[in-house]
Amino acid sequence: MIDLHTHSNFSDGTDTPTELINKAHAAGLTGIALTDHDTVAGWQEAIDHLRPGLSLILGSEISCQTLDGISVHMLGLLFDPENPELSSMMAQTRDNRVGRMAKIIARLNSADYEITMDDVEAQLSDGATLGRPHLADALVAKGYMKSRDQVFAEILHNDSPFYVSHYSPTPEVAIQTIKAAGGVAVIAHAMSSLRGRVVSVESFASYVDAGLDGIEVFHRDHTQPNRDLLSQIANEFDLVKTGSSDYHGNGKLNQLAEFHTDPEEFAKLEARANARRVIKR
Ligand code: AMP
Ligand code: ZN
Ligand code: FE
Ligand code: FE
Repeated sequence: MIDLHTHSNFSDGTDTPTELINKAHAAGLTGIALTDHDTVAGWQEAIDHLRPGLSLILGSEISCQTLDGISVHMLGLLFDPENPELSSMMAQTRDNRVGRMAKIIARLNSADYEITMDDVEAQLSDGATLGRPHLADALVAKGYMKSRDQVFAEILHNDSPFYVSHYSPTPEVAIQTIKAAGGVAVIAHAMSSLRGRVVSVESFASYVDAGLDGIEVFHRDHTQPNRDLLSQIANEFDLVKTGSSDYHGNGKLNQLAEFHTDPEEFAKLEARANARRVIKR
């Protein structure tokens, strides 16, 4: 079983890369992708703690935004982590997330939530990508709410008045940059209406022109009609179909390996990278 989308505490997951590797091994996975938001900072720890029988597929989930303001997540897998353009694209997003957090905090302060940047940073591991989940954890720690889920449902969802976006490349630019770094690009949870507005079926042609390799079809946020439609789009454009958990440790209900990717589909995906970068022990 191969799980192609997970998070560690180098972004908004709660497990260290080591814990993630150990849990993947215990769950009987044969392959796991580490895809923290806009960073490769967790890669080395995962490599150092890799277990026999488990293949490590290194990547990142790149935050994107369409020109009309729709948030899109693009999984970049098996790219060269030293590639300067991709590294600087991710660094720009991470830097921008700090100012964006200050703006969200200011809006919350105006609504009488007493919360500071220090409170949020206290929820963040060293070197991790800052995001709304850390703010949610800080609000929980202060007793305003019971869980991350409750904070997202009530005040931090994409359509909330407290929501502020951050710099992000367009999906097309992200795909081109991932591909130029030798990797493969898979659009994540493209039809998850839980996340607010989603991209149109028509926009896939433009992503394919940019070099899109795959579609994450099997994901808990997709209904069966969503999965059928995404499968149809994948067939039409000869794209790889993936499945994954989007595991975040205790940060979300998603359980490791709850959805997975067919090994034959993964083989097609891997063949589209410019070098063999799957790591085995
Ligand atoms: P950000 O990247 O800062 O805009 O935050 C988005 C992240 O918040 C997503 O990648 C999810 O992992 C997380 N998230 C979204 N909705 C929820 C939720 N209901 N509960 C927990 N985490 C969530
Ligand atoms: Zn996340
Ligand atoms: Fe995502
Ligand atoms: Fe994710």
